[in-house]
Amino acid sequence: MTDRDVFAALFGHSSDVCASAPGRVNLIGDHTDYNGGFVLPTALPQRTRVQLKRRADRAVRAASAQRPGVVGYELGAERKTGGWVDYVQGVTAILAAEGRTLGGFELHVDSDVPVGGGLSSSAALEVALLRGLRKLFSLAFDDDVLAALAHRAETEFVGAPVGIMDQLACSRGREGEALFIDTRSLVLESIALPPQLGLVVIDSGVPHDHSTGDYKTRRAECEQAAALLGVWQLRDVDAGDPRIAGLSEPLARRTRHVVHENQRVLDAVRALKAGDLPALGRLFDESHRSMRDDFEVSLPAIDLLVALARRHPEVLGARLTGGGFGGAVVILTAQAHTAAVALDVVAAYSAILPGEPVVILPWLHAQQNHPMNLES
Ligand code: ADP
Ligand code: MG
Repeated sequence: MTDRDVFAALFGHSSDVCASAPGRVNLIGDHTDYNGGFVLPTALPQRTRVQLKRRADRAVRAASAQRPGVVGYELGAERKTGGWVDYVQGVTAILAAEGRTLGGFELHVDSDVPVGGGLSSSAALEVALLRGLRKLFSLAFDDDVLAALAHRAETEFVGAPVGIMDQLACSRGREGEALFIDTRSLVLESIALPPQLGLVVIDSGVPHDHSTGDYKTRRAECEQAAALLGVWQLRDVDAGDPRIAGLSEPLARRTRHVVHENQRVLDAVRALKAGDLPALGRLFDESHRSMRDDFEVSLPAIDLLVALARRHPEVLGARLTGGGFGGAVVILTAQAHTAAVALDVVAAYSAILPGEPVVILPWLHAQQNHPMNLES
């Protein structure tokens, strides 16, 4: 069944508008964005797709292929439920707060982006929905404003204290390009990935939820460390600053991760521009050690995937990507070796631990399943 058929079966008529947005994989620079620092994501081929139709009243009816049932609410009466519809409610509540006029609508969502896998299914959903609503209600805002609206929906309504990386990556990122973002100035730079560069992304299958627990703790620790160091954000701390070691633990470790990770992003941009893949691989490795030991956001399943990747003769570097506490790993190799590396790592993992890691890149699934896989 095509997306259109699914919509018609669900709501009894066809949709007016479709839109989509990609997931993203962060190459390097994790837990730097809410510290005013640097990140380097790239768009995935996997996308979240939405279909929409206007209603005559102010009701919203929403369904997702990834969640059972149809959920509904009235515009102007958005209330947090703890369910996936909060991302939809967040978007309509923020648009209303910005003075944008909406009417009711029916929505169907489907996605190839793993949900809760550290590959930004949440921002892909927000960005795809905002693109769809922009068309449906002829709203005027550009892709940077769209990212900011999506970010507000997730932080202010859903309550996940994430930085701006994901929404900018899903709104502005393109496949085959790394998107360098200075999250303080919001200066962006696209850097073409060298053709010989190969990325393997494997979802551990351990889901996380950034609107709860540990992510908030890490963010609070960073804010506490910045206050103790007398700076606005950890972005403002120099990697060589002797005061870092004087902080109590775990604040010293957390700070060390953030300040060195920022430097690694800048070094990674230089390595990419020079086509120096071994240097980029070393930065991946250092970043993983830092996420594991200093920021403490890795898990045994993730560490195993990274260790198995690192043992592969064709792998140049590997790291946990995204917020952590589950999620995915990104592995650097040569383009020619991506399929072999992915299969070898998953096979080796399955011989040791239960669970089913899923290969996200290279993407082997047929895109023709999704005829509505449109750019915007
Ligand atoms: P991720 O790393 O995938 O962004 P998050 O925890 O930030 O993980 O977001 C995952 C949440 O986003 C899900 O629990 C769900 O509420 C929502 N979500 C994302 N994609 C979809 C989808 N296709 N259908 C329904 N809900 C989705
Ligand atoms: Mg997310």
